[in-house]
Amino acid sequence: MPELVPTIGLEIHAELSTATKMFCDCRNDPDEKHANENTCPICLGHPGALPTPNREAIERVIKVGLAIGAKINARAKFDRKNYFYPDLPKGYQISQYDEPIVLGGELAGVDITRIHLEEDVGRSQHVKDETLINFNRCSMPLMELVTEPCVASAEQAVAFARELQLLLRYLDASDADMEKGNMRIEANVSLHEEGTKEFGTKVEVKNINSFKAVYGAIEYELKRQAEVLEKGEKVIQETRGWDENKQETFSQRIKEDAHDYRYFPEPDIPPFETNIFGLEDLKAKLPEPPNAKRERLQKEFNLPEAQTELLVQDRNLAGFFENAVSELATMDTKETSTIDSETQGLLINYLTSDIKGLMNELGLSFEELKITPEHLAHLVSLIRSGVIGSRQAKDVLRLMAESGDDPETIIEREGLKTVSDEGEVLKIIKEVIAENESAVSDYKQGKDASIQFLLGKAMAKLKGRGNPVQLRELFIANIDR
Ligand SMILES: [Zn+2]
Repeated sequence: MPELVPTIGLEIHAELSTATKMFCDCRNDPDEKHANENTCPICLGHPGALPTPNREAIERVIKVGLAIGAKINARAKFDRKNYFYPDLPKGYQISQYDEPIVLGGELAGVDITRIHLEEDVGRSQHVKDETLINFNRCSMPLMELVTEPCVASAEQAVAFARELQLLLRYLDASDADMEKGNMRIEANVSLHEEGTKEFGTKVEVKNINSFKAVYGAIEYELKRQAEVLEKGEKVIQETRGWDENKQETFSQRIKEDAHDYRYFPEPDIPPFETNIFGLEDLKAKLPEPPNAKRERLQKEFNLPEAQTELLVQDRNLAGFFENAVSELATMDTKETSTIDSETQGLLINYLTSDIKGLMNELGLSFEELKITPEHLAHLVSLIRSGVIGSRQAKDVLRLMAESGDDPETIIEREGLKTVSDEGEVLKIIKEVIAENESAVSDYKQGKDASIQFLLGKAMAKLKGRGNPVQLRELFIANIDR
């Protein structure tokens, strides 16, 4: 049998994080705990209530389009998609049919077909024998992105979805939190024989709500369809769900015909020209997108891939890092915008392990953190020049997080400065030599490790404020071998 080639297309829904809903002034709050708190006659579809499109939502979809190099349709319109469901009080959903806002574009090597804007539906909750309906989510602005059927594997699907999530967060378009359901993925999966032009029968896997599930559902579906085809049977066109416990897809609905939603133009909202949103202005205000940041950081700082990715995944962390580097470069008189690799390595270690650790421990975000990039740069510089040791640096960092003071002030106040006054250190070296005769004679007989023991004794006398390099040198200089 010829090789089977997978064809995967994705449809991704993301709730936009605007202040209000898509067509009314109700609060758009996905975390609202009280059922039906954010509702009004418009989003509940009372007769005669008129929708007004949310400008902010349209602008966010345009921004996503601009960021992926898509075409922004000069004219767009809303349409009614008619179907009955209890969580859809109007009996139709306002969506976009043939004139969406965004056409084309590309992200992470995947071609995009279109992005349109629609309203979300309510939520049915099944409690014992009853079904309750919560309309808080009803009419929240929902962006739907459709890719071309050009995704080749489950890995590529996940990589694309992750990059889209990151982009939506960079653009402040959506929280894109899959666990909370404000980003939802559907995958259209089919297999065809290599060399044939026609795609195989496609199966739609709906409502996948984690990256792990995206991977699992696609992998499972590819395997299942291959087994069907290898038995000489036909794949049935259907909608399937993903069973998280069994790690398999299951049939939900056989599709005899395409749904007839009887789309027609929304009579209460006229078609609109997208240039009224100031496309050039929106484009100029776009933040640096993740892929551009990834490339630039790699080039500018020559960081290992894992560290670059750590920074790209967290805009605030990247900003903190770049500000600290620029402060260190200013402190350095060499008038370059870069710093030496050892200093940079030290900075990134403090940032990604110590500061991140403190933030986790204290439950702080970057906005709440009292340590500034400038202060961290000063601390790194003090460590590099031997003013404080790395053990003291950890204490200083904690005090910086608690007080917001700069490290110089803290070191002075707490007396944490490394004792580097040669006279004072020498006095201690001599004391230690006098008090530890056997270790000294071991060293004299060639046991180098004894220096470490003596160094520890001296460090204890200095209450940890010694400079290990200086201490080692002084011991070697003061013991005759
Ligand atoms: Zn409302």
